Amino acid sequence: MWEHKQGKKKEEPVKRRCHRCRGMGRSPCPICNGAGEVIKSRDILGKPIVGRCEGCFGLKYIRCTVCGGEGFLTEYI
Ligand SMILES: [Zn+2]
Ligand SMILES: [Zn+2]
Repeated sequence: MWEHKQGKKKEEPVKRRCHRCRGMGRSPCPICNGAGEVIKSRDILGKPIVGRCEGCFGLKYIRCTVCGGEGFLTEYI
């Protein structure tokens, strides 16, 4: 028989750069494609009526959903 060793494993948090935003913590808004505004409608002449994007509120970027805006992902190994 062998001894069952109960070595305490320490989980070390390792910070890794987010692959999605590459450490930026934000990514271009997928709704307006980083423009900050979207075409809401067109007037009688066919001119586009642009308005503030509802997805990013005109900020052009949204918080990265993968890292939550941190830019890093904490992994436990
Ligand atoms: Zn947007
Ligand atoms: Zn990210």
